[in-house]
Order: sequence, then structure tokens, then C-alpha cells
Amino acid sequence: MMVVSEQTNPEDGGVGEGGGERLDVHNASVNERIARAGRCAMTNLRTGQVCILPFRHREPCQFVSPREPAVENLLRNPRPER
Ligand SMILES: [Zn+2]
Repeated sequence: MMVVSEQTNPEDGGVGEGGGERLDVHNASVNERIARAGRCAMTNLRTGQVCILPFRHREPCQFVSPREPAVENLLRNPRPER
């Protein structure tokens, strides 16, 4: 008697991990409070850090900890420049 084990073996064509930077992996969102202050407010969900550069800045995002005093200061005074 033959026992046929029906184990489906779908070969998912090798999902390689650690293949470097992928934009969709960052899955960033926007910190609303910081966005209201007129900043980029992009949030790195992996680190929890936020970008407080001006909205639509050209350079790459610079993520800082939302606990940075600069962030609180920014939220209190969205437009410090006169
Ligand atoms: Zn940014």
C-alpha cells in the first residue's frame, strides 16, 4: 500500500532578505503635529524618528528623535524666523 503524502511545496521563488535598501520597506508615515508645523514630518517607523526639515526639502530626510528638544521647540514655534 502506497501512502501518498500530498505535501504541496510551492517554491516561492526565493524571497531574499537583507537585499539592501527598499523604499517600500521603510513604510514611512507622517507625524501630523510636525506636519502642521510646516515640516517634512516623515516618520521612520523602524526607528520612530521624525524628519523636521522644511516641507518638501531637497536633501534626504534627516531623522531625529521626537524627544529632541528641538522638536518640541519646533512645535511650539513653528515659524521662528521673522
Ligand atoms: Zn524629510
